[in-house]
Amino acid sequence: MAEVLVFVDHTGGAVRKPTLELLTLARRIGEPVALALGDGAGDTVRTLAEHGAVRVLTHEAPEYAEYLVVPEVDALRAACAQVSPAAVLVPSSAEGKEIAARLALRIGSGVITDAVDLVAGADGPVATQSVFAASYTTTSRVSKGTPVITVKPNSVAVEAVPAAGAVEALDVTFSAQATGTRITGRTPRESTGRPELTEAAIVVAGGRGVNGAENFAVIEALADSLGAAVGASRAAVDAGWYPHTSQVGQTGKTVSPQLYVAAGISGAIQHRAGMQTSKTIVAVNKDPEAPIFDLVDYGVVGDLFEVVPRLTEEVRAR
Ligand code: FAD
Repeated sequence: MAEVLVFVDHTGGAVRKPTLELLTLARRIGEPVALALGDGAGDTVRTLAEHGAVRVLTHEAPEYAEYLVVPEVDALRAACAQVSPAAVLVPSSAEGKEIAARLALRIGSGVITDAVDLVAGADGPVATQSVFAASYTTTSRVSKGTPVITVKPNSVAVEAVPAAGAVEALDVTFSAQATGTRITGRTPRESTGRPELTEAAIVVAGGRGVNGAENFAVIEALADSLGAAVGASRAAVDAGWYPHTSQVGQTGKTVSPQLYVAAGISGAIQHRAGMQTSKTIVAVNKDPEAPIFDLVDYGVVGDLFEVVPRLTEEVRAR
């Protein structure tokens, strides 16, 4: 069976959930081989094996922490030469998309970004994407070279399927460009204790209907009762009620959680572009004609300041 190379996103050996999703998708099109780089790469092996990695290639070097993306591209290129994979899968983070594009250029192949599904096709993997502000759902495949595909977080439910996870050290020779852009400092964002927006399984988002920064406490309370991340519409962000890092939509982040709750959000096309692929969508809006209701699985017509706290109470009581 063809092998599929999965680029591992981890922090000091702790594998992030989008990588486990990639392993699940990789098993649909071949045998997953994982590539883990940098500090703690060796510590990822057990988790990767528990989720279907037949082999884990590792390489530790200070360059991965000190320089931007090119060392990772060099390593992926070396791994491609060693494995000859049927496809390379990379998480759809900003960094992941840059890595994927640079790798495709290096190995003379094509790249598909932000896939939300992946199946085996007669001529290679077929990826599903949601494009043009989510107006169209397309399927596409790379017709030249080894397909490099980035996959959006939460596109698939993680399956734990144990595999051998045989560890192999990868030989990497860094290119001259690898040390071109040095990282001079890192400022960790103040932690809210909530999951990262693009990776969260549940997102509770507020819009103009929330009517003030202080009222976002209502949204946060529901989010915390569900273990969810908090999102916001651009109207709420532009009004200064919530940080831009939480904006969902065309000019914000794209989320694809299992559950998306939109409170006081009308459902403009630019907002839908960022959340339309959520598995279950719930809206609370006092206007029964709000366009968001065209999209929802469950809609509540009502005042969010009555409905959301009652929902929070109900969740807490369980
Ligand atoms: P509104 O459209 O004003 O809707 C507020 C809703 O709240 C209404 O439906 C109202 O009935 C309801 N409401 C009010 N009070 C209550 C209450 N007490 N209880 C319940 N419901 C209540 N928008 C984004 O979100 N993300 C983007 O990334 C984005 N990018 C854009 C890019 C471009 C180029 C452009 C032109 C626009 C973009 N927009 C984006 C803006 C978008 O067009 C909308 O203006 C925006 O999404 C509206 O936000 P909203 O739904 O919160 O506000």
